[in-house]
Amino acid sequence: MKIFPSRLSNVGTTIFTVMSRLANEHGAINLSQGFPDFSPPALLLERLTHHLHHGANQYPPMAGVAPLRNAIAAKLERLYGASYDPESEVTVTAGATQAIFTAIACCVRPGDEVIVFAPVYDSYIPAIELQGGSVKVINLAPPDFRPDWEKVGAAITAQTRLIILNTPHNPTGTVWTADDMAELARLVRDTDIVLIGDEVYEHILYTGRHESLARTAELRERSFVVSSFGKTYHITGWKIAYCAAPAALTIEFRKVHQFNVFTVHHPSQLALADFMTADPGFAAGLAAFYRAKRDFFRAQLAGSRFELLPSDGTYFHLARYERINDLPDAEFARWLTIEKGVAVIPVSAFMPDGTDYGLIRFCFAKNEATLTVAGEKLRAV
Ligand code: PMP
Ligand code: GLN
Repeated sequence: MKIFPSRLSNVGTTIFTVMSRLANEHGAINLSQGFPDFSPPALLLERLTHHLHHGANQYPPMAGVAPLRNAIAAKLERLYGASYDPESEVTVTAGATQAIFTAIACCVRPGDEVIVFAPVYDSYIPAIELQGGSVKVINLAPPDFRPDWEKVGAAITAQTRLIILNTPHNPTGTVWTADDMAELARLVRDTDIVLIGDEVYEHILYTGRHESLARTAELRERSFVVSSFGKTYHITGWKIAYCAAPAALTIEFRKVHQFNVFTVHHPSQLALADFMTADPGFAAGLAAFYRAKRDFFRAQLAGSRFELLPSDGTYFHLARYERINDLPDAEFARWLTIEKGVAVIPVSAFMPDGTDYGLIRFCFAKNEATLTVAGEKLRAV
């Protein structure tokens, strides 16, 4: 039998899987795929165990359990002054990846155009293409990777259905400002363009404040706002997140959600609801927690031949390696993993046109012991 033509002919295995596998094969310190190597809060684990043993083992409601949706709505109100109805405007998802996929699937049709910014998170473009949408990529350039709003304006056409943004931004650590949001609002005003805010690093920023799409009524009314508990509570393996959107958008979101996942792991939802209620300030402490890690990591690299770019948010850091060699970034990342024992991500993996800025991404969401050993190895390169 001849297998059907691929729906994603240009897609291979994600760079995160490839580099983590290579790190394991070669016993390298894994600063590639973004995940913490430390434990989630003990209370959260205790609540998960509790709910596993107290009956939360069957299907929860399709949109998520009420206590978690209430806790999410309370948080959005507290942080961004945004009023979302937990019943009709908040949906718990199996990770941000599923939330973003579902939001794209419910609004993009063949022929629609979607604007994304590169470096671009790897799941967006395949999700758009699976719906028959066409992608317009706006490249951002080092060292600051700021959006050029004239270019964005020029990319908008009558076919533009959706713009996807990610702030704080993986992999560059760039954080959009209130001026950026005002420019965005100006461009979409009087259009039917929908927005997806990939805000999974909303609590991890080292400058200014997080400019959520939820902050202003004008942007909120056209936005799917997505965040991930994976990043906030050190539980990337739980794959649990949410999408907040006005009722009209949420109705369409849930039409797809109910058929691509239906609902999400029940005991995790209850555990998160308990934890968010018991310790609502945990998320507010993340910025200081990760700032200390970022600064520790930077100190480890002082005296190395890597040149660190700024990182204003996320738990990632970009670095130039031109003082070491002139390999293409993908080859450099493999070489560093195999020969020098530290795995990283090449930034070209986030560039659909393959642009190679000579940059690699480090993940510093690690214990000091891990970062110390990585630092020794990296200073020796
Ligand atoms: N968006 C960005 C920018 C991310 O970095 C990640 C994961 N690291 C995701 C989405 C996906 O989050 P999740 O693991 O909750 O699917
Ligand atoms: N988002 C994580 C990163 O950027 C990886 C998630 C994944 O492996 N899909 O490293």
